[in-house]
Amino acid sequence: MTEYIRALAQDAARSEARRMLASLIPGQTGINLADEVADAVLGAAQSYQQAGTFAIIRHLVDWLDQANGTGETETARRLLKLTEEVGEVSSAYIGTVGQNPRKGVTHTNDDVADELCDVIVTAMVALHRFTDNPGQHFAAKVQHIADRVLVKEQP
Ligand SMILES: [Mg+2]
Repeated sequence: MTEYIRALAQDAARSEARRMLASLIPGQTGINLADEVADAVLGAAQSYQQAGTFAIIRHLVDWLDQANGTGETETARRLLKLTEEVGEVSSAYIGTVGQNPRKGVTHTNDDVADELCDVIVTAMVALHRFTDNPGQHFAAKVQHIADRVLVKEQP
């Protein structure tokens, strides 16, 4: 999952590159050119990175399907699992600040990062139940969010 976090950081770097390109070439032409270059780089990188990650998740989904079946109850349980994992993020974070005086500091930032990765993986597994192409759906969603944010940031 470290690779997944690194991929997100690289995507953020590409967004920054898009912003820098737009500032180097003033006016609407510069913005359009920067968007085209950034989109091409981002799209190629995302396709490559997510193909690997989603291939691994696909194996996890197949394993779960074989063990637990594929009915509506299993779908609901996979969504419930997501809530469980989010709770573990909160628990780990609380453990980093020693909020419970009886327990003191029980977790590290690395523990929180691990729990966040559990949330991401669990969501990726659940995502397979609602779309035939989870990798493509995810990439499109990330692009949509990036576009929305970048549009707001442009003068
Ligand atoms: Mg967990």
